[in-house]
Amino acid sequence: MNTRTDIIIVGGGMVGLSAGTALIKAGFSVVLLDAAPPPPAFDAGNEYTLRVSAIAPATARFLQALDVWPAILDTRAKAYEHMTVWDADSSGELNFDRLDIGADALGHIVENALIADQLRQQFVACGGVLKHDSKIAGMTPRERSVTVDLDCGSKLRADLLVGADGAGSTVRQLAAIETKQHGYQQRGLVTMVETELGHDNTAWQRFLPGGPIAFLPLSGRRCSIVWSLPEDRIETIMALDDKALGNALTQASDARLGTISVASQRAAFPLQYQVADRFIADRCVLIGDAAHVVHPLAGLGANLGFADAALLHDVLVSAKELGRDIAEPTTLRRFERPRRSEVAMTSRFVDQINHLFRAQHPLLRNLRGLGLSLTSNLSPLRALFAAHAAGLASDQPTLMRPHRV
Ligand SMILES: Cc1cc2nc3c(=O)[nH]c(=O)nc-3n(C[C@H](O)[C@H](O)[C@H](O)COP(=O)(O)OP(=O)(O)OC[C@H]3O[C@@H](n4cnc5c(N)ncnc54)[C@H](O)[C@@H]3O)c2cc1C
Repeated sequence: MNTRTDIIIVGGGMVGLSAGTALIKAGFSVVLLDAAPPPPAFDAGNEYTLRVSAIAPATARFLQALDVWPAILDTRAKAYEHMTVWDADSSGELNFDRLDIGADALGHIVENALIADQLRQQFVACGGVLKHDSKIAGMTPRERSVTVDLDCGSKLRADLLVGADGAGSTVRQLAAIETKQHGYQQRGLVTMVETELGHDNTAWQRFLPGGPIAFLPLSGRRCSIVWSLPEDRIETIMALDDKALGNALTQASDARLGTISVASQRAAFPLQYQVADRFIADRCVLIGDAAHVVHPLAGLGANLGFADAALLHDVLVSAKELGRDIAEPTTLRRFERPRRSEVAMTSRFVDQINHLFRAQHPLLRNLRGLGLSLTSNLSPLRALFAAHAAGLASDQPTLMRPHRV
């Protein structure tokens, strides 16, 4: 088989599916390949799934433009109106409010599986071709097209190949794109908990010397936990029984939400910084974690990936309208330049926060306490931080602009 299509996307995670849906709605033909077998349909009658994301307002607008946001809200999404960040080693505390960004919510906590499920349905309903159990084995860019070899032996041809295949991207390797990376010597423990006190529609984050612990609000007294722990502590904490883990979480959160009870399985994810040296190659673009992985402390990783997908939509649509080859280097550079600069700024910001809060020097401890209090008390500075976290600070791709919701 040697089928020709406009765009092949490798990777059916949230980011690849959002790019596929945006591009198919814009009139491109899209084939999306994913290595995994088809997942079961999302069932809101079941317990919460473990992986959730804090979805920024700009991403919500993008998902609205893709016609999946109303169904996500109807199914299971929790709006949060406030965010409280505080430091275990100083008196500093920072409080954000939805009014800082003039929005109904600072963001929504949504299960990754629900977002992917809705996007998958929308992509297929709009005529996208989704192939599961399909791995890319090779790619050959030519003057007018790129040929993709699948591990089953078949070939596909397209104008453009999009690598959305996550941190270990095969597309990135096939395109011979190197990465800069470093570990944080931390892993992220993820679990669901029940809190004794109400979460007050607030995302809570406490910075501990070993790394931050976040409580992301869900329905009732449920919260999703992301606890960044040093490598030398993670095995001990993971091995605790539920009661002992609940005690450790209560202590780590300074009992701010009362006693914590563990309500699900747990999992630990390696945390790393990784940014590709280039986001584009000959007839090829990288988006999402394939291009950049950042520390989850600011809840920005998937939001950055959605912004990649939204901008890719814009540059490809405008190339098509001008009758140009969508994979021309000038077109791809219009995607790469702004995305590289936003990723560089965001990853630097996240890295500096992580380092600053792990530093034990008394001077730095005092400085960060002062910094948190100052930011909290100066409303323009607070609003600037909140707007950045909400994805409102920079120029937005068309599908993320405010008139969308
Ligand atoms: C603990 C933790 C908490 C986080 N919290 C947040 C948050 O609150 N907010 C936020 O914005 N971000 C958050 N993130 C980051 C976010 O989860 C990721 O940035 C996001 O899931 C990346 O999505 P993706 O679609 O790019 O990649 P992935 O989700 O990794 O998807 C990649 C897809 O590619 C497929 N694939 C892989 N290899 C191949 C191949 N060779 N051929 C075909 N298919 C292939 C896989 O099957 C998969 O479906 C968090 C991350 C962690 C670790």
